[in-house]
Amino acid sequence: MQKPNPDIMRAAIEVAEANQTPFGAALSMGNEIFVTAANQTKELFDPTAHAEIMAIRKLADHLKRTNLSGFTLYTTCEPCPMCMSAAIWAKVDTLFYGCSIPDIRVFTNQIDMRAEKLNTKSFHRVAIQGNVLKSECINLLKKFY
Ligand SMILES: [Zn+2]
Repeated sequence: MQKPNPDIMRAAIEVAEANQTPFGAALSMGNEIFVTAANQTKELFDPTAHAEIMAIRKLADHLKRTNLSGFTLYTTCEPCPMCMSAAIWAKVDTLFYGCSIPDIRVFTNQIDMRAEKLNTKSFHRVAIQGNVLKSECINLLKKFY
């Protein structure tokens, strides 16, 4: 498994902060960031506008394809089942997240289904590693909840 690049997680943290949400995401290949996105559920009146979904939509639209294999998803918070499913459908190679679903649930509602659990039920396995810049990501939760 590749090693996380903290600069890319920092980009996800920055886009979250800029949008005043704890939820930010980035999609990269190697050390190159292709897109960043933040949760926009409130602005767009779209309950599905989670950061990871927005990032996947942006990159797929940019590349004009649905298969994002070769890409790595960075997200400040462990993906919810909707976002993890989207990452699987997009066939991303690797997922790095900051804080975990149990960490998020201290601050707000979150569906109690871990990304790894969904991954093991899937047709495509995403390599997953958490705790990337975890304390910075928890600080976002503290700041915006
Ligand atoms: Zn989500």
